[in-house]
Amino acid sequence: MATTHKTRMLIIGSGPAGLSAAIYGARAGMEPIVVQGLQPGGQLTITTDVENYPGFREVIQGPWLMQEMQAQAEHVGTRMMWDTITNVDLSGDVFVAQGDSGDTYEGDTLVIATGAQAKWLGVPGEQELSGRGVSACATCDGFFYRGKKVVVIGGGNTAVEEALYLTNHATEVVLIHRRDSLRSEKILQDRLFAHPKIKTVWNKRVDRFVAGEDGALRAVALTDTQTGEESELLTDGAFVAIGHAPATELFKGKLAMDETGYLIVEPGTPKTDIPGVFAAGDVSDHVYRQAITAAGAGCMAALDAERYLAEKLHLAGITETVQG
Ligand code: FAD
Ligand code: NAP
Repeated sequence: MATTHKTRMLIIGSGPAGLSAAIYGARAGMEPIVVQGLQPGGQLTITTDVENYPGFREVIQGPWLMQEMQAQAEHVGTRMMWDTITNVDLSGDVFVAQGDSGDTYEGDTLVIATGAQAKWLGVPGEQELSGRGVSACATCDGFFYRGKKVVVIGGGNTAVEEALYLTNHATEVVLIHRRDSLRSEKILQDRLFAHPKIKTVWNKRVDRFVAGEDGALRAVALTDTQTGEESELLTDGAFVAIGHAPATELFKGKLAMDETGYLIVEPGTPKTDIPGVFAAGDVSDHVYRQAITAAGAGCMAALDAERYLAEKLHLAGITETVQG
């Protein structure tokens, strides 16, 4: 039977942002509900080694880290829901979210932590070799290519930044782009072209990621977009950097977002253009996109949600006293 769940803090998304918001919200007595979505634990559940989340000297596993975060959130009083939100109504005093299960969720405050997903090329070998040479995050995986050769695919700011970042580790970085000019900012292009470790391959489409005998990536199969000529480029790692898609479909026409779909927040805060609705993590951050920054933003969202509610209740109390 369909149920309505009420809470002072409704959180959509169970990645580092959503679970950190839940930990802070629960400890502030907000009795949060987290609706987990199709990827409980978020993006870190599809990776293996995580070496840059503070607090762990040894390499930890992404799925383990997210299990621990969830256990901590539950331990302090968070209710976790196996559901996916399919519609939201942000027009009233209480924020209402409709679950795929038929249940309804009502929050006095709302934290949106639905994240963003890297776009993939969708070519053979990509999925199979993900984590075995194919990645979409240089900050996360670049370290594993110390002293090796890597390629970066894409021509926007992300691709150029990933290529420049990878020069800290790799001996050679090849940027592969499907056209003959980049769309990234000029200043980044200048740095890219001036860098002695970076080569650029123009007008090439990646058709396939090729595995070696050891089952790890050996090469990328390319086709020249001008001549149709096919070739193979040997590499130890391939970073797909063709953009990210924030999970904000639900909020179109309801919250301010930029032209690429990221939720717009007041700079330096998680506040959206609707008071009481907060956005945290990758859903509103196209620059940093890290577990630690998402967790930090989740903490900020919970603190601001608690303050918002306290202020609202205080004002309601004053109004009642005056009217009474
Ligand atoms: P996400 O982790 O994307 O979580 C989004 C959540 O929202 C998910 O639980 C999803 O189910 C939920 N959701 C979405 N839509 C709905 C809906 N309609 N209803 C309900 N729930 C919904 N960062 C690092 O710091 N270190 C690393 O080593 C590292 N490695 C990475 C490796 C890979 C392969 C990838 C893809 C990313 C990696 N990152 C790493 C980046 C890091 O995972 C993200 O920055 C971080 O997970 C963002 O957290 P988030 O909470 O904002 O969103
Ligand atoms: P983007 O600007 O959309 O660029 C994506 C790039 O990938 C384009 O060069 C595109 O090629 C290529 N591409 C897309 N699909 C492809 C496919 N299927 N096969 C091969 N190539 C493909 O994405 P982004 O670089 O991630 O940037 C997204 C937004 O974030 C932008 O607004 C950007 O300015 C911003 N950003 C800013 C910073 C910064 O300010 N430092 C850093 C990162 C991102 P074409 O050029 O041929 O279309």
